[in-house]
Parts: sequence; C-alpha cells; structure tokens
Amino acid sequence: MSRWREHALAAKGFMPADEGDALHGAALAAAAAVPGAPFVEVGSYCGRSTIWLGAAARQAATVVFAVDHHRGSDENQAGWEHHDPAVVDARTGRMDTLPWFRRTVEEAGLAEHVVAVVGSSPTVARHWRTPAALVFIDGGHGVEPARADYAGWTPHVALGGTLAIHDVFPDPADGGRPPYEEIYVPALESGRFRLASATGALRLLTRVD
Ligand code: SAH
Ligand code: MG
Repeated sequence: MSRWREHALAAKGFMPADEGDALHGAALAAAAAVPGAPFVEVGSYCGRSTIWLGAAARQAATVVFAVDHHRGSDENQAGWEHHDPAVVDARTGRMDTLPWFRRTVEEAGLAEHVVAVVGSSPTVARHWRTPAALVFIDGGHGVEPARADYAGWTPHVALGGTLAIHDVFPDPADGGRPPYEEIYVPALESGRFRLASATGALRLLTRVD
C-alpha cells in the first residue's frame, strides 16, 4: 500500500477508504481531462480526504486548494453527533482543526501539493476565478451552507471536469438531506452535470454544459 494512503487511513476525519479511493481515481481522470487545472476541496476538517486529493494532485503535477474556516460545521460543534473534543482550542474554547490539518498534510508528505485556503466558503467562492478540474464539496451539511456551496462552487467546475459531492443520501433513513436535495439533485436538474459514478455516499458528476 502507498505510504500516503496509510496516512489517509490513520487521519482523523470522515472519509471512508472506498470513497477516498474513488475520489482519488476521479481526480486523476479529471486532471487528464482538464490538463493544468487545479482541484478544489470545500471542507477539509483535519485533512483526511485532502490526502487522497493531494496524492492525485502530486501524481498529476497539479495542486489542491483546500477551503475551510477550520471552525467546524454545526454538526461538529460540542453536543452534536460529530463532535471531537480533541479539536477544541483550549485557549478560546472554539474548534480549530487547522493545526490538525497542517500536521496531516505534512506527515503524508503532500505539503507541496496542498494549498490551505482558510476562510468562509461563500467568500472564497465569490472571488474565485480559476476553472477547476475537480471540485469536491464536503462542507457544511445544513440547508443554507449546502445551497451556498452549490451556487458558489458549481460554476467553477471546468467543462469536462468533475463535481464530487459527499454525504449524498437518496434514502432519508441513511442520513441528512441537504447534500442530496440542495446540491446533487439541482446539479443534475440544471443540465450542466451528468452522473458518472456512485461509491457509498460519494457522487461523481461530469460537467457537460
Ligand atoms: N472532508 C473532510 C470532512 C469535512 S467536515 C473529511 O473527509 O474528513 C466539514 C468541514 O466543513 C468542517 O471542517 C467545517 O469547518 C467546514 N465548513 C463548514 N461550513 C463552512 C463554511 N461556510 N466555510 C468554510 N468551511 C466550512
Ligand atoms: Mg463528508
């Protein structure tokens, strides 16, 4: 097994191995389809999924811009399902995953191919100008953040490039609705994207228009 992949499997975070491997393969294919273009990750947390994208970026001689304010989504805060007290900054009592992210990326040997963009996703999206070979959306999973990520980031997927969406659950019994209802369904209904493949809760869409 590749050394970087061992680091991915050991890292704190939420990306299952089979979905990470699918994301890695999609990123390599997207880099071939849109040569020279970067990848964008929206929602990095402690850098687990970032490793799969960073390894693909290294292999394809490109970079991944990893966008996160590192303050956690609502579902990561104290008292919620996906909270980890280890990522709380004792000085402020607020979540801060940036130190964890940096350590994950460095230990995986991918610092040259991962660029952290620390800030609010809609703000970064508003000023973003570079077409991306692949945009991976895994940020806030509430209705408002999901809508904002759909509106802000889907226009930046290059023609022939890939929109990857995480935590897509067509069956409400399996998980929260917004990634499915506010990102996946609108992307397909817009006519700009076609479904390429599904692995677990990951959906890979190709930009066709
Ligand atoms: N991709 C990661 C998990 C991401 S968790 C993995 O597979 O392990 C969701 C992340 O989205 C959190 O780190 C949170 O800080 C970030 N996030 C949520 N809303 C955001 C926003 N509006 N702007 C920037 N980052 C946001
Ligand atoms: Mg996720």
